[in-house]
Amino acid sequence: MSDKTNKPDENERADAGGPHFIEQIIQEDLASGKHERIHTRFPPEPNGYLHIGHAKAICVNFGLAKKYDGLCNLRFDDTNPTKEETEYVDAIQDDIRWLGFDWEDRLYYASDYFEQLYAWAEKLIQEGRAYVDDLSADEIRAHRGTLTEPGKNSPYRDRSAEENLDLFRRMRAGEFPDGSKVLRAKIDMASGNINMRDPVLYRILRAHHHRTGDDWCIYPMYDFTHGQSDSIEKITHSLCTLEFEAHRPLYDWLTENLEIYPPRQIEFARLNMSYTMVTKRKLLKLVQEGTVSGWDDPRMPTIRGMRRRGYPPAAIRNFCDMVGVAKVNSTVDLAMLEYCVRQELNLHALRRMTVLHPLKLVIENYPEDQVEEMDAVNNPEKESDGSRKVPFSRELWIEKADFMEDPPKKYFRLSPGREVRLRYGYFVTCTGFEKNDAGEITEVRCTYDPATRGGDSPDGRRVKGTIHWVSAAHAVPCEVRLYDNLFTVPDPAAAEDVQAALNPDSLQVLTGCMGERSLGEVEEGQRLQFERQGYFCVDPDSKPGAPVFNRTVGLRDSWAKIQKQQAGGKKKG
Ligand code: ATP
Ligand code: MG
Repeated sequence: MSDKTNKPDENERADAGGPHFIEQIIQEDLASGKHERIHTRFPPEPNGYLHIGHAKAICVNFGLAKKYDGLCNLRFDDTNPTKEETEYVDAIQDDIRWLGFDWEDRLYYASDYFEQLYAWAEKLIQEGRAYVDDLSADEIRAHRGTLTEPGKNSPYRDRSAEENLDLFRRMRAGEFPDGSKVLRAKIDMASGNINMRDPVLYRILRAHHHRTGDDWCIYPMYDFTHGQSDSIEKITHSLCTLEFEAHRPLYDWLTENLEIYPPRQIEFARLNMSYTMVTKRKLLKLVQEGTVSGWDDPRMPTIRGMRRRGYPPAAIRNFCDMVGVAKVNSTVDLAMLEYCVRQELNLHALRRMTVLHPLKLVIENYPEDQVEEMDAVNNPEKESDGSRKVPFSRELWIEKADFMEDPPKKYFRLSPGREVRLRYGYFVTCTGFEKNDAGEITEVRCTYDPATRGGDSPDGRRVKGTIHWVSAAHAVPCEVRLYDNLFTVPDPAAAEDVQAALNPDSLQVLTGCMGERSLGEVEEGQRLQFERQGYFCVDPDSKPGAPVFNRTVGLRDSWAKIQKQQAGGKKKG
């Protein structure tokens, strides 16, 4: 992990709160009248599902357009027919909408521009700026040179414009086998920038394309597609990640030589997050190898996965804002994302009581057939969420961990002779317990004080522990899935053996959990706080009356702790 981890304020934002460097450029361009309105785009390649890194690019592109009253297009960069599928095209649109952004009627595909791109290639050929090369891919690589040595010209570099045009048209007509020829820009084999050493513009590839079918057997390269697509759409600011910085001279060379509208490419830092892998290719492998249950496995850093896990879209947007836009790559702590998730859920999640590891509690002096409806607050952060009735009866479920036969000093929950508060219920005092032959505690017994209804003591008597409970007769049996990081190493993308870096305990399934009565009716995707346990979300695997809950995140906030420590450290220093 880089030493930049944990310090988003210092390293991700030059001046916290103020406009970041892209905003400064936009503000200047609007002030000078260079642009009346800004126009950005989000350009995913439909070769996988979107992940948290894409969420950042989406928030930057759609977010800036929104902030400066501009427009943002969605454009599929679909120039690679062998890896692309309509499944991804649909999922990507769904995910962007879920995140809260809208491209209105501006949905485009780079493949819609294939004919125009082809015409531009012919223009370059006619003007002596592109040529058909017969060298093989290996030979081209060998001719390319290195960072310190210039490349060598291809023997085919000086073909006449007529010959090149004829060959290129025959490439399109399917006269040559795959890989036998390419079209290259004629720039400079000695350029200090390897991207400018006669980059390949077109390749021959007989592959079915998800939109153009078998219309084409030549396909434009990314570099020949992206800038021109931006130009066609009159994108003012083409925002991309840092790895494209060295491609910018080619981006500009193409719009200049084609004499077309020149968008400005601006690069910003990729989002990297600790304990997380954000590369579609590697995530696809996890899916294909069955390491996870799918792209929407709640442990995946995909938008799908985070959604199923219960992350609210607003939390993801807030996180992207908090990370900010920087020019230097760094790694953000996963705890920061979880902090944003907690912040959001704390405000909006309804509180419920669920016992994950049930232990029977019998109240000896409570009437056998009595049921009381206790008032329980739905959300202390939001009065308008009101309250609900929770049934209370003689036999309850409590957490196994809330009883100890022989407790250590600072244990304030139930133990023989000890009095605790049952949240929203009564004060109860432990009178005994039962064990089975294996020595396990099977039942705890207690008496209640009828004067403490609602959990308040009339005589000012204090108890140190408050525990949650569920009435056994009214309990809704449920399954609860607990998650931990998918990887045990902070930088799994760098791991030589990804499988070895996996956390064997990333998923723990608890069956036979006991939820309060209201959990018998929940909706898929609903987000809740189980008191003392964390935030949970209703999984699509739920059946009527048998809900399945994913733990979204625990209650403990490690990010706030990290920040506090840092603040403390700073003060001292
Ligand atoms: P991956 O490496 O996961 O395949 P990619 O960059 O190839 O990602 P694209 O579909 O080409 O994926 O990306 C669409 C947009 O999202 C691009 O503009 C890309 O720069 C941006 N993007 C991808 N990953 C990140 C990231 N980690 N942080 C910020 N932006 C990203
Ligand atoms: Mg890509």
